[in-house]
Amino acid sequence: MYIELPENVKSIIEVLYSNGYEAYAVGGCVRDSVLGRKPKDWDITTSALPQEVKSLFKKTIDTGIKHGTVTVMIKGEGYEVTTYRIDGVYKDGRHPENVTFSSKLTEDLQRRDFTINAMAYNDKVGLVDQFDGMKDLQEGVIRCVGNPSERFGEDALRMMRAVRFCAQLGFRMDNDTYKAIIKLAPNIMKVSVERIQVELIKTLLSENPDYVQKFQETGLFAGILPKIDKILSSKYKKSTLIMLKLSECTTILRYAALFHSIDYEDIQEILKSLKLDNYTIDTVSKLIKYSKNIIEENEPAVREALHKYGKDMLNLMLKHEKAVIATKEAVTGIMLPARKKHLAVMENMVSHIIERGDCFTLKDLDITGNDLMEYGLKGPEVGRILGLLLDIVIENQKLNDKQTLIALIEHL
Ligand code: ATP
Ligand code: MG
Repeated sequence: MYIELPENVKSIIEVLYSNGYEAYAVGGCVRDSVLGRKPKDWDITTSALPQEVKSLFKKTIDTGIKHGTVTVMIKGEGYEVTTYRIDGVYKDGRHPENVTFSSKLTEDLQRRDFTINAMAYNDKVGLVDQFDGMKDLQEGVIRCVGNPSERFGEDALRMMRAVRFCAQLGFRMDNDTYKAIIKLAPNIMKVSVERIQVELIKTLLSENPDYVQKFQETGLFAGILPKIDKILSSKYKKSTLIMLKLSECTTILRYAALFHSIDYEDIQEILKSLKLDNYTIDTVSKLIKYSKNIIEENEPAVREALHKYGKDMLNLMLKHEKAVIATKEAVTGIMLPARKKHLAVMENMVSHIIERGDCFTLKDLDITGNDLMEYGLKGPEVGRILGLLLDIVIENQKLNDKQTLIALIEHL
């Protein structure tokens, strides 16, 4: 087995070896390399203690020094170098009470969650695979290192990770691993909502977003996210899962697909409980709400919609609608040509209006508040007249000319 390590990773491993230590690329980067996927980052595991790592490299950052992690900076890029470690007792079902450094690679690999994440590699030794990770990678299986109940008992987040890796890699879950999740699902309450959200969104943004169903099926969502649990066990389950697959792979559109069957208030409540940022909460909930409104097939109506919703929101609404139509067609087997044609007309009109640079906001008007004040208008009257002028221009673009607009004021 040969893995092409990046030059910087090779040189870190080289420096550690030439100083008498062992070092390997480990975890996700080895897994992804074997699968022919591009690793997001390269983690290194070493027998050197954090202080020793720090002394060997010019620029380092104490990322998680208590847990043995030092980030080594090379040419502006950071690499996490972590000392071989054994995790102590897990008292809270999430974090080890303490960690002990070790000099044995095996002990470090043993603490890792899944067999496919417990392989190490360097050019000298080749692939170290003591838990049959390679076999599971080939067969497409997510399996715990060691006893699944023990491993999930130590850290409940691993149950969410198991589902997430299945979704990202299109893998199935080993039977014992799956049974252990069903048994220990209530322990998920011990995990912070921020971490849960990360696993949820990684699942939704994966190639198999419909695997989100497994969070429901295993009981992982019953206690922590009862409203999502309900969607995934309601009559909308099928359309939700299909729509997830048919929606563009963005956070907004995938959340919108997940929540397409529920109302504004519930969406807001769920997204708030997931501690998402205001932009996501607002955009997803408004997207579902606005998507219920029908826009007429004429340019003034589309300009009015652009004014009301904004360009970005309207584009999201069109993308959402596309997925809604495709989902309805897939679920019922009945084609919706008229609705599709309406969408195509909308898409066309929106792009024409934008390309042409039509006026649909106050900013695009050929007249400003200052102009109106010079003309003698005061206070709230300025805003009111500007609004009326914009209404007129949205209907009739030809009138967007300063002289014409000034002449119009008399009649408003
Ligand atoms: P990705 O970064 O693509 O999400 P990854 O496998 O690199 O996947 P990380 O969370 O970056 O995942 O963790 C790096 C490695 O650390 C994992 O491959 C695994 O070996 C180990 N690991 C991470 N989280 C846990 C955990 N909760 N329990 C046990 N081992 C873990
Ligand atoms: Mg990683």
